[in-house]
Amino acid sequence: MSKKFGSILIVSGPSGAGKSSLIKAAEEKIGDFYFSISTTTRPPREGERDGVDYHFVDKATFEADIRAGEFLEYAQVHGNYYGTSLKPVREALEAGKLVIFDIDVQGHAIARERMGDLITSVFITTPSLKELERRLHARGTDDEEIIRKRIENALIEIEYISAYDFLIVNDDFDKAVDDFVAVAKAARLKKGRKQALQFVNEWRGN
Ligand code: 5GP
Repeated sequence: MSKKFGSILIVSGPSGAGKSSLIKAAEEKIGDFYFSISTTTRPPREGERDGVDYHFVDKATFEADIRAGEFLEYAQVHGNYYGTSLKPVREALEAGKLVIFDIDVQGHAIARERMGDLITSVFITTPSLKELERRLHARGTDDEEIIRKRIENALIEIEYISAYDFLIVNDDFDKAVDDFVAVAKAARLKKGRKQALQFVNEWRGN
């Protein structure tokens, strides 16, 4: 029987661009996928749950996990650590699933180096910096200092758009959801080197 192997969709973009809402709204139309729950040292926002939105840990625990080689990638964003654990991702890939990561531009670069042939990536942003500022204030979950950090970071992140396969401008939400579903479906069809070789062998009847 042929061995299953999944693929990866990396979603990046400034905080406040609506990545989580888009993924949530597209969920039912994408089909079965595994959403990689990151580990972070950032404190939970109101309404966020440990093990659902993130695995929330302290700095010492995160640094011990780095030393133990637990992470596929990790980075410091807005002064906190964020990382993707390797083990659940590997398991989901082996089960043939599409794995979705919501990670920053640094994480995207590292993951590309390690698993590039399995990765499709999409950058999601607001139509303008002004609109991003408006949404971050409207969200009402972060204080001024944090909003300032997020905007500073967005100005850097936006320069990495060309490293991504696709760009979605989240202006009209319904249209953005349709675009995201199309990208996720394409990501599912992406074949890595190993899968391609295996397919060829099976196709030949070996
Ligand atoms: P937030 O604090 O708004 O949840 O996330 C802040 C930023 O960290 C976002 O750009 C998000 O994509 C990124 N992020 C979340 N999890 C990870 C991760 O595991 N690795 C990396 N490199 N970035 C992450």
